Amino acid sequence: MTYPPDFLNRMQGWLGEEFPAFLTALGKRDYGLRLNPLRGAIDALRARLPWPVEPIPWCPAGVWMRQEAPLGRHPYHTAGVYYLQDPSAMAAGVILAPRPGEWVLDLAAAPGGKATHLVARMRNQGVLVANEISRRRASVLAMNLERWGATNTLITNETPERLAERWPQLFDAVLVDAPCSGEGTFSRDPQTLRQWQLKTVQTYAHRQREIMAQAARLVRPGGRLLYGTCTFSPEENEAIIAAFLSEHPDFTLQPLHLPGITAGRPEWCAAPPIVRRTGRFWPHRTAGHGHFYALLQRTSGEMPPRPSPHFPPLPGRVRHLYRHGVGAALTDPPPEEQLLLDKHDNLYRTPLAPSLWKGLHVLRPGWWLASLRHGKVQPDHALAMALRPADARHTCDLTVDDPRLRRFLGGGFWREEGPDGFVLVTVDGFPLGWGKRSKGRLKSRYPVHLRRMA
Ligand code: SAM
Repeated sequence: MTYPPDFLNRMQGWLGEEFPAFLTALGKRDYGLRLNPLRGAIDALRARLPWPVEPIPWCPAGVWMRQEAPLGRHPYHTAGVYYLQDPSAMAAGVILAPRPGEWVLDLAAAPGGKATHLVARMRNQGVLVANEISRRRASVLAMNLERWGATNTLITNETPERLAERWPQLFDAVLVDAPCSGEGTFSRDPQTLRQWQLKTVQTYAHRQREIMAQAARLVRPGGRLLYGTCTFSPEENEAIIAAFLSEHPDFTLQPLHLPGITAGRPEWCAAPPIVRRTGRFWPHRTAGHGHFYALLQRTSGEMPPRPSPHFPPLPGRVRHLYRHGVGAALTDPPPEEQLLLDKHDNLYRTPLAPSLWKGLHVLRPGWWLASLRHGKVQPDHALAMALRPADARHTCDLTVDDPRLRRFLGGGFWREEGPDGFVLVTVDGFPLGWGKRSKGRLKSRYPVHLRRMA
């Protein structure tokens, strides 16, 4: 692989005798999987993987392998059993450590690697706002969160400024996984490599400072703000944190204690020594392509009261829709609370009262349960993906090598005796989506837009 001379000269100057090892490691490909605790105990899931994997010391849910395998095409991936993520990126969820019940914002969330990790750590309890500025990328984010079985998530397509204006000091934890020059991803992203120039580093640094200024406004007193990049340039890392600390005296930088992480390098950009508390993962020292992290805490300020969650009363029509759509497919439907019917007749369970987000660009106000189409209620794919087999009235479990699996993922059908109605189709007990049985024929309801990827 050929790298830009300016990049190499800078890295050599900073890394000195470590540079040859760094250069060799820069071209490596490590393959990381993060297992989904919403699908079962991590040890049990790991034991069911068909590949030999190694643990990731800083992330209990993570494993990695050196060899390439069809990880993204395996039915367990389709069933949200794991997410493909670089090992060093898995540290974000561990460092921010969101707890069930907290209000958390992922400000730059697509395609959803870190957001799915946050959901898993929160056990789907509390509120996760997953925001993405690009509309196209926000759709991919929604698809990945649905496959993962997220139910406590509101997906927005907004600028950081608009969110900061609307939600001052609302969140217990905010993640800024910043757009960056992506030097750590050179080996798997040739476009990032082609576009790299010294001035791109400066452009990103400018944007990162602006995003962090908005992110600070969103953190409640006592709350955490985690900044991360997948690049090595100190202008986008230690220098951003040094500038942030000088402009935000109400934040302090927290030390990072994690296996595999090494101290930040303030001396590379004349930042104050405290910035050694930031952390770096290096590709030549650990699994993965490298990452930078800084954990900040807002230590002072008046705690504003959290807005009271006012959910409007449920119209009788929505109640009816819920009971006949969701209730007919499930053994024990979730309580009739926090339901919302949008103008397109889609029914959601929202984690955040509509008065709090009205006027913002919201792609998904919550867990998509069902839709009313031509007078008929259809349970949604996102509902299926957050279920366990015991939650559904009717199930059809397939094994990985069952020929019906391909038919299901391709939108086909097969003969299957049993009562008419919606059937949760699973692979080895993990949800894949809905089928509909009628007169002994089970027809796949796997979403058309996902079929190409199956
Ligand atoms: N957190 C994601 C994950 O783990 O899958 C990766 C996020 S990626 C490193 C950075 C994201 O920032 C991109 O999706 C990009 O569209 C978004 N972005 C770009 N410019 C932005 C801006 N000015 N404000 C907020 N987000 C921005």
